[in-house]
Amino acid sequence: MAIATSVDILYRRPMSRRQPVPLITALLLSTCAAAIAADTIALPVRFHIVAGMETVKRDVAMDSWVAEADIRTALLPEINRIWRQARIEWTANTVTIHTVEPGRRRDRTVAMLATASRDADGRSDPRRVRKLDKLLGTDGNDGAAIDVYLVPYLGETSQGNASRKKRRVFAAQWTDKPSRGEEPPRRFALVEKETFRDGSLARTLAHELGHVLGLRHPDKATQRELGRLMGGRRPGYRLTDDEIATARANAQSLAANIQE
Ligand SMILES: [Zn+2]
Repeated sequence: MAIATSVDILYRRPMSRRQPVPLITALLLSTCAAAIAADTIALPVRFHIVAGMETVKRDVAMDSWVAEADIRTALLPEINRIWRQARIEWTANTVTIHTVEPGRRRDRTVAMLATASRDADGRSDPRRVRKLDKLLGTDGNDGAAIDVYLVPYLGETSQGNASRKKRRVFAAQWTDKPSRGEEPPRRFALVEKETFRDGSLARTLAHELGHVLGLRHPDKATQRELGRLMGGRRPGYRLTDDEIATARANAQSLAANIQE
């Protein structure tokens, strides 16, 4: 009892003697909140859902199925949950439907994506990305935000591609990566709860946005930390301290650049 009383006195005395204690606490708390908010770097993203690019592979007709509501209520919150560790926040400025006009260029690109496979070293065919950039006119982007294009399919076991220079990301809504291309492509899960199993469209986007911020894949032979967003052995969601420092430095200059 004696101890309880003294704790009680210690706790209560300042509050009963003078009122400012809660006020100071409130001030301190609000200062901390302001500091955290100021420390977060916000980066604008424009989402483009690509229509008119139906791709057929192994009898599966793949078209865009992600809707604006999926982006705003599932993808973006998960991307931001992943990036919170770096105090970087992505905002969806616009979500638009980008309709590809029918024609030979489209047909050739779609045919290339349907048949694209990885080479002996596991590399995807870079020509398919150049074709897509041409088809979608991404060279004409004004750079006022990061452009994310959600296409139906990106080629065998390929889920995403990023160009740091163009501030552009491609991501596939259908994937055959979990089966290593052995099975027909299927719709990618929007999100996957940790821990990592097959990955998700949200995680792919978070990974590709990492490339836009200058991050690379870890070297599987020498990497120490597992469970990483940027891939490597046993991929996951974590960013290393070095990656956070690099991403934040690049995010800072990108944000300043975008505001100009
Ligand atoms: Zn990558």
